[in-house]
Amino acid sequence: MQQIARAVSMAFNTLPRAHRIMLGSLTVVTLAVSVWRPYVYHPSDENPVVKSIELEKSQLRTLLPEASEPIDQDTPAPEDDVPKDEIDEDVPNETGTHDYVVSSGDTLSSILNQYGIDMSDINQLVKTDKDLRNLQVGQQISWTLTDEGQLQRLSWESSRRETRTYDRSGDGFKSSSEMQKGEWKNSVLAGTVNGSFVTSAKQAGLSSGEISAVIKALQWQMDFRKLQKGDKFAVLMSREEMNGKTEQSQLAGVRLQTNGKDYYAIRAEDGKFYDRSGSGLARGFMRFPTIKPYRVSSNFNPRRLNPVTGRIAPHKGVDFAVPVGTPVLAIGDGEVIVSKRSGAAGNYVAIRHGRQYMTRYMHLKTLLVKPGQKVKRGDRIALTGNTGRSTGPHLHYEVWINNQAVNPLTAKLPRMEGLTGKDRSSYLAKVREVMPQLRFK
Ligand SMILES: [Zn+2]
Repeated sequence: MQQIARAVSMAFNTLPRAHRIMLGSLTVVTLAVSVWRPYVYHPSDENPVVKSIELEKSQLRTLLPEASEPIDQDTPAPEDDVPKDEIDEDVPNETGTHDYVVSSGDTLSSILNQYGIDMSDINQLVKTDKDLRNLQVGQQISWTLTDEGQLQRLSWESSRRETRTYDRSGDGFKSSSEMQKGEWKNSVLAGTVNGSFVTSAKQAGLSSGEISAVIKALQWQMDFRKLQKGDKFAVLMSREEMNGKTEQSQLAGVRLQTNGKDYYAIRAEDGKFYDRSGSGLARGFMRFPTIKPYRVSSNFNPRRLNPVTGRIAPHKGVDFAVPVGTPVLAIGDGEVIVSKRSGAAGNYVAIRHGRQYMTRYMHLKTLLVKPGQKVKRGDRIALTGNTGRSTGPHLHYEVWINNQAVNPLTAKLPRMEGLTGKDRSSYLAKVREVMPQLRFK
């Protein structure tokens, strides 16, 4: 042992001065680490007798990278999850398929990002077809996702004649193109409400997809479930026909009369619907469901891994770090569809806005609204809390579009908008052409 030590010290002394300093300090650091390590403080050893639920929570906490953030599980009891109404039952279910009309400022990645689609998939798509970099306002894209939220297929109407489709194949996408050779014709379909709107519209000759387009266009003007017998409607459809069959169709305009009042929605060049004077039909939404924005403690993540089970447990909303008792506000006009205590969600409120949008608010302390109640944008609906499966006070907030959870911080929400300048004058010219055609039977 002594010989080894002597040999080491001799070797050490023959080294240049800089090397000696370096080696010396490394030795000191190594010794310090090995001595210090056994004295690391283990708080869990201190107090092994903890109530079972608290133990579970503290274990969850230490397993997470951000150990101090509250975490949650946000699944309401199955019967309270995304409740459906009559119109959902009657018109085809759109879960998993998305349609989107390109607006100014949109890019493929800004559109797909809000749905939590992987950046690598978006890059692969653009690699497959560089033209996807040049989306035009008013064009339609649609896509389907797998149950795991992975992009399966995307279609792009690059022109009125051509639709390009990209199907997942391995790590990339395979593209195909279809040219439409049919003829576009306008048809007016008119009818009177007798029974449900959906049944009456079918009798007037509209397909399910066309009915869904009409309901979406006027979703902010009326509740289609509340139409009365004798209410009238007239729809102008632009249909592509081939061999006497409708290949595809587009809603050009609709007029609906209820309680002696006429409502119009007419399509502009940008693919959106406006009223007779070119004003937008949607009332704007607020971005945050609170008076002021709060810090995000956990982000939207459709592929979140549960740190305990290692399985995918999507985080379908964002968590805001808010103190208990903070007022929660409805982000837009709508109808309360759920307000109750429900499973891991704790006290939970769901609001339906128009036909396509839904928002959900969880882990609340106090509920201030009742199911069936109509709310206006900015109305207080609850106070925040820490109920259900939650490890600390926070607000879990979700936005759903067409039955799919989207990122609430980036989702395209309805904005109060109108047409101006040249867009408005060309729209008004179209209104003058379409309005006389919307005649009731
Ligand atoms: Zn959450």
